[in-house]
Amino acid sequence: MAVLEAEGLRKRFGGVEAVRGVSFAVEAGEMLALIGPNGAGKSTCFNMLNGQLRPDAGRVRLRGQDITGLAPRKVWRLGVGRTFQVTATFGSMTVLENVQMALLSHQGRLGRLWRPVSAMDRAPAEALLARLGIAAQAERPCGILAYGDLKRVELAIALANDPALLLMDEPTAGMAPQERVALMALTARIARERRIAVLFTEHDMDVVFAHADRILVLDRGAPIAEGAPAAVRADARVREVYLGS
Ligand code: ADP
Ligand code: MG
Repeated sequence: MAVLEAEGLRKRFGGVEAVRGVSFAVEAGEMLALIGPNGAGKSTCFNMLNGQLRPDAGRVRLRGQDITGLAPRKVWRLGVGRTFQVTATFGSMTVLENVQMALLSHQGRLGRLWRPVSAMDRAPAEALLARLGIAAQAERPCGILAYGDLKRVELAIALANDPALLLMDEPTAGMAPQERVALMALTARIARERRIAVLFTEHDMDVVFAHADRILVLDRGAPIAEGAPAAVRADARVREVYLGS
């Protein structure tokens, strides 16, 4: 069974048909890239998947369970993680404390804190930081991190929720090209290790073609191609509409 199934999603904003009948599935351990020009409807799709927007039509299923229209908090609790373009960390807390908070929150223990986060068991958070290559940043406040490291903290926070599905809307925006490649390569390795289904958008086509297992191309709200990177890259309509050649 697919981790995520989206079926016939539609969303209209006033006169704009932002998403016009989009269907896809993502399997465990698979990286699916959603690409298309600006305004194609990618973010609107993401927002319908995690409950931020209610679709006008269509269904969203997580491991077979219908989650269409559930509130974002509920969707998150069912195992849908999301990284945001705007950073979602607490700047004055250290990297380790941010990840400890996320782990506690996942365990449902955040509301019952009776001692500082700093007194909790560090090992699980440290292991996650090590996996993401930011162990050396553990004691630094998030507010002073380099941008690329902050992105990794955000990924650590998303992973602390032990997601079945990870939604990443332009995760590498604002990063240098080498950092982009490194972050997506790491994401792909972790997705395979932990059998996480990943749906991501990305402007850098080198990153998309290197790390997506499959690609779905949207144009003005509608799918125009779907398949393995080599097939999508060779698709005449994709080249015309999206790659501009
Ligand atoms: P993408 O992420 O692919 O760039 P979006 O999903 O953000 O595209 O936008 C798709 C279309 O929907 C665009 O025409 C955009 O202007 C419009 N749109 C997105 N969100 C809203 C909104 N909240 N209100 C009105 N129009 C919106
Ligand atoms: Mg967008």
